[in-house]
Amino acid sequence: MKYYSTNDTSARAGLEQAVVKGLAPDKGLYMPLEVKRLPEEFFENIDKLSFQEIACVVADAFFGGDIPADELRKIVYDTLAFDCPLEKVGENIWSLELFHGPTLAFKDVGARFMARLLGYFISKSGDSREVNVLVATSGDTGSAVANGFLGVEGIHVYVLYPKGKVSPIQECQFTTLGRNVTAIEVDGVFDDCQALVKSAFVDAELNAAMKLTSANSINVARFLPQAFYYFHAYAQLKRMGLADNVVVCVPSGNFGNICAGLFGKRMGLPVRRFIAANNENDVFFEYLSSGEYKPRASVQTIANAMDVGAPSNFARIAELYGHDVDAVRADVSGARFSDEQIRETVASVYRETGYLCDPHGACGMRALQQQLKPGETGVFLETAHPAKFKDTVEPLIGGPVAIPERLAAFMKGTKESVPMAADFAAFKSFLLSRQAMRKNL
Ligand SMILES: *Cc1c(COP(=O)(O)O)cnc(C)c1O
Repeated sequence: MKYYSTNDTSARAGLEQAVVKGLAPDKGLYMPLEVKRLPEEFFENIDKLSFQEIACVVADAFFGGDIPADELRKIVYDTLAFDCPLEKVGENIWSLELFHGPTLAFKDVGARFMARLLGYFISKSGDSREVNVLVATSGDTGSAVANGFLGVEGIHVYVLYPKGKVSPIQECQFTTLGRNVTAIEVDGVFDDCQALVKSAFVDAELNAAMKLTSANSINVARFLPQAFYYFHAYAQLKRMGLADNVVVCVPSGNFGNICAGLFGKRMGLPVRRFIAANNENDVFFEYLSSGEYKPRASVQTIANAMDVGAPSNFARIAELYGHDVDAVRADVSGARFSDEQIRETVASVYRETGYLCDPHGACGMRALQQQLKPGETGVFLETAHPAKFKDTVEPLIGGPVAIPERLAAFMKGTKESVPMAADFAAFKSFLLSRQAMRKNL
């Protein structure tokens, strides 16, 4: 499969280049040249397939032409070493729990897939130079990517995060790892971190000195595999005879997750429509209402992994729908919630059903409560485990949230990070000096 750039539809790159580069040379995002429609019989029999079997079919549609089948199968099975089960929350509402991976958030799926795919390309190329993964995080990306790559030979990971704007539990998941992971604490907001990373990729001097790649949701190897669990959710609903009028609601920030779901729909997945749930960073909600896309600075909320003011994957969604807002509106509606509404939802859902949402999932749940019509089955993506946000959640339910063992293990480590101004010149000289040091080792 060839990939083009959202900034230049005539540009072409192969999968390896798209994965290693992350961002196209013109700063555009890579898009697959075609989205294959899967055969009817796949959907008819999907309820008889395991999560991994389903994912192999979806992965083959995107990556099959570029990776031998046995390698791709191994990458898929290694990635999906945990389940994404549906849990019933309301009358017609289900939670797709995406937090059963190592860092308790959905980003584990894309990060694990990308680490393994990049590892495959590195070992195949025989190039002995180290690959440097740069990743900006508003919370959960950093931990998923750092853990996905931890200990992978030939790769060093730099995680950039906004000082004081991620929860202590999130922070410990990427600052305590050591080994091939360096955490950089940026004096700024998430958008500053993202800007530093984007500038690094187009800086000629840096790129001459070191091999750089991105692991943000802009990377095709991270964002496309997220389609796997939409198909798996559909299969689970079909098993229960509930697959006819499915509405999927995705708590969204950078819009990589929902974008993968929309690719799934284009591949034939019978989801009736999607809802993109926002917190107060409602640029996409405004776009659906006004038809105009106006990115702006992000504001901090209690659903902090969705605090994005200029969602990168907007460009992909626009491209997928031919830059026609009415076409987008036909498949996706919007929702937006204040911190107060998010708090209220966590508390009321827990009180009424016993189910504990995290602040992101709560946006999804509330949007379904608002917008689900009779006869529809709603699924919201529970994008992280509530224990990752225990300081927010505990006062709302008036009791402690149990911390899963794999999360408690991170909290025992010692924090190590490099303080950095939100200034590209400083970031660049840091990377260059580290690179020089490594060469001299
Ligand atoms: C990253 C993240 C989101 C937003 O996902 P996008 O793909 O950036 O839209 C939502 N919830 C949680 C918990 C996240 O970590």
